[in-house]
Amino acid sequence: MGWSFPIGVFMGTVLRVHVTFLLLLAWIGGSAWFVGGPQAALESVLFILLLFACVVLHEFGHVIAARRYGVQTPDITLLPIGGVARLERIPEKPSQEFVVAIAGPLVNVVIAIVLLALLGGILPPESMELDNPGASLIARLAGANIFLVLFNLIPAFPMDGGRMLRAILAQWLGYARGTRIAATVGQIIAFGLGFLGLFGNPLLLFIALFVYLGASSEAHAAQIKEVSRGLLARDAMVSRFETLSPASRIEDAVQKLLATSQHEFPVIDGMGRMQGLVTRDDIIRGLRERQPETSVSEIMRTGIPDVSDRQSLKTAMDLMQAHGHPAVAVHDATGRLVGIITPENMGELMMVLSEDRSGRLRGGKGAAGSSASATSDR
Ligand code: ZN
Repeated sequence: MGWSFPIGVFMGTVLRVHVTFLLLLAWIGGSAWFVGGPQAALESVLFILLLFACVVLHEFGHVIAARRYGVQTPDITLLPIGGVARLERIPEKPSQEFVVAIAGPLVNVVIAIVLLALLGGILPPESMELDNPGASLIARLAGANIFLVLFNLIPAFPMDGGRMLRAILAQWLGYARGTRIAATVGQIIAFGLGFLGLFGNPLLLFIALFVYLGASSEAHAAQIKEVSRGLLARDAMVSRFETLSPASRIEDAVQKLLATSQHEFPVIDGMGRMQGLVTRDDIIRGLRERQPETSVSEIMRTGIPDVSDRQSLKTAMDLMQAHGHPAVAVHDATGRLVGIITPENMGELMMVLSEDRSGRLRGGKGAAGSSASATSDR
């Protein structure tokens, strides 16, 4: 995620903070100082930091649950609206997705119970007013954790409740239909929140927009998954493309960039095997920071995932998404590069296929996602 920086690594997961989160801290501290002086500012900032510690523990609830099913979590990013744990993929079984989704809110339930025990079992009513300086820090934190549980259980993407709803629906209706219905429910809730927000609560309007976008992107991702089911890597790859050799110079790459509409150029050795990949951004950066005669092998990125042309498209897309690679290379049985798959050409494929298949998907239930067809492509 752009505009965020790492602050540490815990259990193999990088914890990142988005710059807007620091702006939030500054804003909270500044406004508390304005009203109540330095003491109030310190307390407010401390409260927000403790609150976000609870959010981080919530995200680690997801991380630990995901690990149990062999799903890696490269990073967690803290945003002013909360945390986001990036999963390498969604667990295969709906029941597993349900467990991963509910693990986060359960952490806040545990924290709330512990804090309530510290308070002697009574939650003073003013503790739900998070900015009320009259309530003790522990009472306010307990209130905040209860709020986090309720907020995350709203059955709308990208909240955990949305994922839980999708998992429950997917159990009976298949993944694609489950997601569509869950996304629609989420968008209706977003409209509801937005409507309430119009009566003077800008925060609600903001959350509504966030929920609406989350629902749309989840529906889109599910559509890609649905349309690509049963396809092989070779069905989706670009098979005609310009390449570079390890001896090519940055200026040669510039020529090819200008002469074609291609953005990613594989670097191929004499045997036809891929050595690395140079993207448009790499070329432009190389031009700025180095000489035009520099070899492309000095600016190319290596470690691009590759699949055989007979592997499923789903495998290729999972690899591309898992670490945010710009492309996946496709090789034939002899190891020669025969194609590349990029997010751009996936987008085009989706447009073509969703036109082509829409009739069939609407007509026949079979194609729309029974679990039997889902397992056939692995
Ligand atoms: Zn969560």
